[in-house]
Amino acid sequence: MLTIPDTIQLDFTERVAAYATARGLPPYEGPRLDHTAMRAREKLVRFHGPTGDVAHEFVWPGRTVIEVPGWIWPFERPEDCAELDSTIWFDVAGHLVPDKADLDAPDGVVLLCAGCGLDCT
Ligand SMILES: [Zn+2]
Repeated sequence: MLTIPDTIQLDFTERVAAYATARGLPPYEGPRLDHTAMRAREKLVRFHGPTGDVAHEFVWPGRTVIEVPGWIWPFERPEDCAELDSTIWFDVAGHLVPDKADLDAPDGVVLLCAGCGLDCT
């Protein structure tokens, strides 16, 4: 059995990058959130939409749900999401940008699935 010494602690980004590389895929680069109110959920997403659904889609290893403060996604996880064609923008403070075409609207930082919060930026 392979054990990883305690001195080698990989964070989520490093783990999913290793997972992608092991499958011959380049690592996923998500939006930078360090200057925002939002955080990436550190959980591997296997797919978007229920198995058997026509819209069921592959999700790149590392592409994950973005947690927005005060926002609860209708679907707890992308694997169960039934809102695959609906996305919404959030600004740097984690506020909904209702109309991206409004010139006075704040800039959208992340584009997320309206059903589960999966990063679609
Ligand atoms: Zn979704």
